[in-house]
Amino acid sequence: MIYADNAATTRMSEAALNTMISVIHENYGNPSSLYSIGQRAKETLEEARRSIAEVIGAEPREILFTSGGSEADNQAILSAAAIGRKNGKTHIISSAFEHHAVLHTLEKLKKEGFEITLADVHENGIVRPEEVEKAIRPDTCLVTIMYANNEIGTIQPIREIGKICRAHGVLFHTDAVQAIGHIPVNVETDQADLLSASAHKFHGPKGVGFLYVRKGICVTSLIEGGAQENGKRAGTENVPGIAAMATALKEAAARMQEDAVSLTAKRDRLIQGLRRIPHSALNGDEAHRLPGNVNFCFEGIEGESLLLLLDDKGIEASSGSACTSGSLDPSHVLLAIGRVHDVAHGSLRLSIGEDLTDADIDTMIRSVGEVVEYLRSFSPIWRDLESGKKQHIL
Ligand SMILES: *Cc1c(COP(=O)(O)O)cnc(C)c1O
Repeated sequence: MIYADNAATTRMSEAALNTMISVIHENYGNPSSLYSIGQRAKETLEEARRSIAEVIGAEPREILFTSGGSEADNQAILSAAAIGRKNGKTHIISSAFEHHAVLHTLEKLKKEGFEITLADVHENGIVRPEEVEKAIRPDTCLVTIMYANNEIGTIQPIREIGKICRAHGVLFHTDAVQAIGHIPVNVETDQADLLSASAHKFHGPKGVGFLYVRKGICVTSLIEGGAQENGKRAGTENVPGIAAMATALKEAAARMQEDAVSLTAKRDRLIQGLRRIPHSALNGDEAHRLPGNVNFCFEGIEGESLLLLLDDKGIEASSGSACTSGSLDPSHVLLAIGRVHDVAHGSLRLSIGEDLTDADIDTMIRSVGEVVEYLRSFSPIWRDLESGKKQHIL
């Protein structure tokens, strides 16, 4: 089996798993309890906070634990909106290809009277900082742009955007869920005010993540109850998950450079191989992309059938976002970079991990080629394209 859907989730690392199991076994106290085992859990929690803060250049008190990336995105955006509202600022800038945790939160705010401007992501899948700057108005309270896109892997000019936001006194949030643990992220150099992360995208457990909140920014609690997390997130902390997340992040950061070099070589081998399939195209900028992300469109086929047939061949991949799979709408990300509906339907995302070998890459290239050819052999759209009744786009 070849697992090529690391953008959807990753397998837990051995070290993270060991941390999690040992905390569950031996460190089961409630961090809010005053007796020893509770205090031991509290220490574990604070050690994880220190360790995570160090990796991203933050202070421990700037790390707020959440149930994952979606919650962190919701809390970041709703907090910035609440601050904006208080100051009479109700304009937010984002981009059209954000994760739904961001887009749906913005839609909710729109119904509450906020105005949303979505920056163009262009054909290469990259937001232009100067266009973000041009969109800033006196009533802009937040810019939220993702660090790297989860479907097409394009890395955004976060530093430049961060600098612009700081110069204009506008809060800057970045959904860094796909970036953290894979490419260098530092809240100081990136000038981020709010930043979301999720453990299961860097070989940690599911259901745990964090929000970085620059000191001085008042976040709104989404969950009312106890005074955990400085009163910003009620509920007994997920100590085993948080400890495992810290282990996974530390490990990922230590291996990052080495992994990025080998992954990039494999990614490029895969891209070169898939390019040989006629009427195919890489989605998103080739250079500014995550080391493990490959995303292609193939004309004349249906992404869903491609995935099922690849699964039969032992390859686990995705057509893009797990959240939209099962729906017949093409990916909002591919539409945002200008792919037409027909082409966007024939998409394939292969997000590879460190465990894959060059032989696995070659197997993927061969299998995708075979499946695309097979599907085209009885596709009515492909027949029309080949007979000239319809024009090829790719
Ligand atoms: C996976 C993902 C999320 C959601 O994170 P969860 O922990 O699954 O809630 C948000 N944003 C991006 C870019 C993602 O890839």
